[in-house]
Amino acid sequence: MPGMNPSFLLPRADRPTPVPAPGLKTQHDHVDEIAIALPIFVVEDDPSLTELLRSRLTELGFTTEATASGHAALSRLAVGSCALVILDLGLPDLDGAALLAVLRARGDATPVIVLTARDAIEERVAALAAGADDYVTKPFETDELVARIRAVLRRHDAHAKDTLRLGGIQLERPGGEVFVRGRRLQMAPREASLLEVLLSGARRVLYREAMMQAVFGDDEAGFNALEALVSRLRKRLAEVDAGIVIHTVRGVGYLATDDID
Ligand code: CA
Repeated sequence: MPGMNPSFLLPRADRPTPVPAPGLKTQHDHVDEIAIALPIFVVEDDPSLTELLRSRLTELGFTTEATASGHAALSRLAVGSCALVILDLGLPDLDGAALLAVLRARGDATPVIVLTARDAIEERVAALAAGADDYVTKPFETDELVARIRAVLRRHDAHAKDTLRLGGIQLERPGGEVFVRGRRLQMAPREASLLEVLLSGARRVLYREAMMQAVFGDDEAGFNALEALVSRLRKRLAEVDAGIVIHTVRGVGYLATDDID
């Protein structure tokens, strides 16, 4: 390819060894910084409550989305990540607990806080069993819900740092060990590092400038080096049927999704 960084034409063994663990940490700090803020998704059919929650969350610097429909919520969650879902259990078109069960069955680990009626203990227990992270009983103070949102997000963040999953791939951090459906996959360090960046921003568009910084650090490398690395990673993942698609967003960057469509 014309203009490709010559260091990428070297055989793998001749390339400089990438920075190990401490470097990986810096990469994540960087990726986290550039990651697009994910919305808090309010799934609630009471418009005044939705409005109250959204305005309070917006005030606090969160972005929000909302729907009154359980089916619409499932469709929305299938196409992009949310930071957290606030889920009313009593929706008109689909029971909130059923929605939650579908979400978890898909392998979607987005944190969910359910809103329940004070006397509906069975409903609450069912929601927790279906995979809710917490619940708040109606009526509640907005600030109580906000405190719970923050606690759940903190907990989820700490947990999410250990294992990244997408499609059939699992990547353990720190260290970057990669498994395909439980079987260890040997990868070149830079491919593993790129995979880690893509998984930590899964279902989000990642800017190629930030990816370059995360993968190559201060090494002189052009976009074509990143492109070449992406193409090698695609090939490697296809070989092992990893169930991941790396989409090119022309002129912007890349987006990794699972291969369900
Ligand atoms: Ca309701």
